[in-house]
Order: sequence, then C-alpha cells, then structure tokens
Amino acid sequence: MPKIIDGNAAAADVLARLKVAAQQLTAETGVVPGIAVVIVGQDPASKVYVASKGKKAKECGFHSTEDALPTHTTEEELVALVEKLNADPAIHGILVQLPLPDHIDSGRIIQTIAPEKDVDGFHFINVGKLGTGELDTAFVPCTPAGSMILIEREHGRDLSGLNAVIVGRSNIVGKPMANLLLHANATVTIAHSRTKNLPELCRSADILVAAVGRPEMIKADWIKPGATVIDVGINRISGGSNGKTRLVGDVSYEEAATKAGAITPVPGGVGPMTIALLMANTVTSASRAAGRAFAL
Ligand code: NDP
Repeated sequence: MPKIIDGNAAAADVLARLKVAAQQLTAETGVVPGIAVVIVGQDPASKVYVASKGKKAKECGFHSTEDALPTHTTEEELVALVEKLNADPAIHGILVQLPLPDHIDSGRIIQTIAPEKDVDGFHFINVGKLGTGELDTAFVPCTPAGSMILIEREHGRDLSGLNAVIVGRSNIVGKPMANLLLHANATVTIAHSRTKNLPELCRSADILVAAVGRPEMIKADWIKPGATVIDVGINRISGGSNGKTRLVGDVSYEEAATKAGAITPVPGGVGPMTIALLMANTVTSASRAAGRAFAL
C-alpha cells in the first residue's frame, strides 16, 4: 500500500511551529508579524482563498488586513495601495490575489510590491535569488516551498541521485519547484505541453511533481513503482455527490496510488501547505525586519 502524504497534518505542524515562533518574536522584539491581503473584484474562488488566508493569519496571532476593492479599481489606484502598504511598518507581507481584472497589468503590480514584503515570491528580485541559490534572503513561492517540505519528509533534505520530473513550467509552480529540487541535488527535468514521450519521461522519476491543470491526466502506468508523487493540480469537475462538482488533481489518484510509494491526495495534499508557507514567509519577513533569522 502506498503512503498517503497527509498535507493537512503537515500544514498543522508548520502552523503550530509558526504560532510559537511568532509569539517568541513578539515577546523578544515587540514585532507582531503583519500580512496585508488585497483582492480586486468578485472572483468566487479568489474570495474563498482570501478569506482562508485571513483566517489562518489570525489563528497564527498575526496582525492582518484585507483590502477588498471593486472590479473597476484602476491600475493607478492599486499601485497607490501597494505603495502605501510598502511603507507601512506594521505590514511584513503583501499578497495581491491573482488573477486581477484584465484592465490591470498584474506584472506591474507584482513588481510594485517591495521585494522584502513579497511573501508570494513573484518579484523579479526574489525569482533571481531563488535561481542563484540566495535562499537566506529570498522569498520562495508558497506552493513549491510547501511541496518541497512534503518531499523532504519522505526523502530528507539531500536528494542526491534521485531523478525528479516536474510536469508544468509555470512561473509560480513548475520553474521554482525545479530550482528547489536542483538546490536539493536532485537531477531535474521539466516537462510541458511540447514535451515528447511524456509517459516514458514520467516513468523515469523517483519524484514526480504534477502541476499541469489537467484533471487526472497522469495515469498509473506513467509512474515508476515506488515513486513519490506530488499532485499540485486543483481541478473542479462534475461527478460529485448530489450533482455537485468535486475537486481532483492532475494525477489519476486511485490508480496511481497502486503504483506510487507515497502520494499526495487532492484535496488535502499540497493545498494546505501553500497557505501554511504563506504564513511562514510572513514570519520570515517579520523576523528579518527585526534583524533576526527564521527558518522552518
Ligand atoms: P499553468 O496553466 O500556468 O501551467 C500549466 C503547465 O502545464 C504549463 O507549463 C503547460 O505547458 C503544462 N501543460 C499543459 N498541458 C499539458 C500537457 N498536455 N502535457 C504536458 N504539459 C502540459 O498552471 P499553474 O502552474 O498555475 O497551475 C498548475 C495546476 O496547479 C493547476 O491545476 C492549478 O490550479 C494548481 N495550483 C495549485 C496550487 C495549490 O495550492 N495546490 C497553487 C497553484 C496552482 P506550456 O507551458 O507548454 O503551456
């Protein structure tokens, strides 16, 4: 039987450690970690994500603010808000929920966030630091950072000799995931929509990370027996109970579980880790602001 990697339990563990770290930081320096979440428009999924981020921040004892702006907010108004948050000493992390409405240039907004408050890790400075291995001062995007913790729990911090294949090359998941695996000494291949012989390539993976956005695309016979499978995908499809929709990953879970050594479920795998790592990046930022180092 494969091991089911319990992302809820791993995230609870991270959050418990963050609570203690935040209390200690406040007791010793007076600094309370602060996170600002900004949402523009009415996207229902974004609203759910923003609400759960605010809730988790409060549970961790952080100072948290939420700016919910109307869809017709202009790019200049959003830039002005981000600049105000950049200058606010009580705020250590700024998260602008994506996607933004079409009339706003997301790239410009991300680059307006001060790199030292960019807890999503999307600013060019943080992307560059991750690429060059300056991890002590970088912010790493939360989903790959959370996935990496799940991988470390299976294999330890040194992945020497292991082949890792990532399916997906996005800036927020695939590419930073590749950098993290590379820093941990794995031999890394990134696959994408132009890759040939994808099943065969996946079968070479001791660690397979799926970040595609295609429901249940990865089948059992793509998986090397005993491999660790990290399913980042979140896809809503029909077929839930009472005519409702249900969530599935990019991996065909039931059949893949018969081949994998360890596998993340969807939901309850990578998802909870993403939000936990956002909180971790906020503690990191607050610690740096207080002249301290913090590592999970
Ligand atoms: P993107 O759409 O930005 O990237 C998808 C990647 O998959 C692209 O690189 C694309 O290739 C590749 N791809 C698409 N189709 C195929 C195919 N048939 N064969 C091989 N590769 C393919 O998605 P994201 O990286 O943002 O997200 C990926 C998934 O992860 C989504 O389901 C998303 O919802 C989920 N997600 C989950 C999070 C969590 O917290 N668990 C957080 C973020 C995302 P190409 O570049 O060539 O187009």
